[in-house]
Amino acid sequence: MGHWLEHLIGGEACQGNGPELPVHEPATGQIHAHLRAADAAQVDAAVAAAQAAFPAWAELPASERGRCLYRLADAIEARLEEFALAESRDTGKPLQLARTLDIPRAIANLRFFASAGEQFASESHHGPGSLNYTLRQPLGAVAAISPWNLPLYLFTWKIAPALAAGNTVVAKPSEVTPTTAFMLGELTQALAWPAGVLNIVHGPGPDTGAALAGHEAIQAVSFTGSTQVGATIASQAAPHFRKVSLELGGKNPTLVFADADFDAAVAGAVRAAFANQGQICLCGSRILVQASIYERFRDAFVERASRLVVGDPLTPGVDLGAVVSQAHFDKIIASIDQARTDGGRILTGGHALHPPGRCAQGWFVAPTVIEGLGPDCASNQEEIFGPVASLIPFTDESEALTIANGTRYGLAASVWTGHVGRAHRLAARLAAGVVWINTWLERDLRTPFGGMKASGVGREGGLEALRFFTEARNVCVKWREEP
Ligand code: NAD
Repeated sequence: MGHWLEHLIGGEACQGNGPELPVHEPATGQIHAHLRAADAAQVDAAVAAAQAAFPAWAELPASERGRCLYRLADAIEARLEEFALAESRDTGKPLQLARTLDIPRAIANLRFFASAGEQFASESHHGPGSLNYTLRQPLGAVAAISPWNLPLYLFTWKIAPALAAGNTVVAKPSEVTPTTAFMLGELTQALAWPAGVLNIVHGPGPDTGAALAGHEAIQAVSFTGSTQVGATIASQAAPHFRKVSLELGGKNPTLVFADADFDAAVAGAVRAAFANQGQICLCGSRILVQASIYERFRDAFVERASRLVVGDPLTPGVDLGAVVSQAHFDKIIASIDQARTDGGRILTGGHALHPPGRCAQGWFVAPTVIEGLGPDCASNQEEIFGPVASLIPFTDESEALTIANGTRYGLAASVWTGHVGRAHRLAARLAAGVVWINTWLERDLRTPFGGMKASGVGREGGLEALRFFTEARNVCVKWREEP
């Protein structure tokens, strides 16, 4: 049942030589596609194709590389509905979310870096009698490894800057959600992109992914995924002194102060907790609320969370779809059980859901709100990556800051306050690579994006991404004539 997905190696689509992998539709629990993993020899072939394509691609004017990216963006846009449906089927996310967030953002990534690549410039330093200028040259064949939660969104967020800067790429999407990357590969063939510039291999992380990340000829690895796998990738890259960019997990705080716009804070905190079934690395799963408004906020938050519509992701009006896999569903349910064992009170949700009809066997979790757990317990320390939020009261700004910074992660924080001084104080003190004030997930693609502590190393976005995918070489020219 279902169609077979193929790899793209050296401009040719091919079947894998590795084990067969079923691709599930989380909303139904059924298999809807298949692939055979790429084995190590096929990863070698993809890297060799990228190496062979590199000199000509790097030589092209940035505007020509940009033209390829623009045409790819246009081609995806022309099939937006098809891509959105594929993304929804692979992930379980509401079709409407894929249609309005995932696919438009993938298109925007390609266009943004097509343009940014043309405008990318390097520095010069003028001294007495000498001039230094910096060349920023592409690295060669690079690897991009992406996760399942925002499949095409994050896949393009990596390949677009790598290609725009003149590198060639071997990319591996998550084996859980491979379809839209496969479709993108088909479009590059239809658009007659030069062979080998973009190669796409599919397969499990420990096999196909490890063969790619540890490949000697790969000059840099851009990885988004879990903190645990990020550590493995860093250790594989270290012996070759290869560049790595690691965008990892989070346990992000939402801080709500008594002086905040109450309704906006409730709406923002609900969105931050439950968007994409809570499966966004930036989701605010720890909601810290000032004690003086705690009960009022809790009641409003729970009321709103319990009204979220969970069901068939293809049905209009659904707020939450299914979580991505049986394994992930089991992990989320186990985390909720752990919260109960630790003394947490479940204020809403806390259980699986079985929508009637075609989704009865799907992997659905009710939006869950927990209170009564200390900041140091597992539910408030470990990334659950599901529709589960924990409410924690605090008395003042200093306590809020201590709790917010009291995990091993440091990806994002969202602060809700009407006090401008407090907003800036916290922005400078929160241990997070991304701080939102009175908003959440508002993204400008020019800004640096990434995490501190166990949330990652390096920054993506704008010039940061183009710098990552290039090597700086300083050239010093002496010009002062000797008297
Ligand atoms: P994951 O780490 O399990 O997998 C991510 C990718 O790495 C997949 O393509 C996988 O096949 C591959 N992989 C796994 N083991 C590998 C290995 N040994 N060598 C090479 N590649 C390997 O993550 P996931 O479950 O797909 O995604 C969820 C995680 O991603 C969460 O922790 C989430 O916070 C994180 N995430 C972070 C960001 C960010 O920008 N910081 C964004 C999205 C998701």
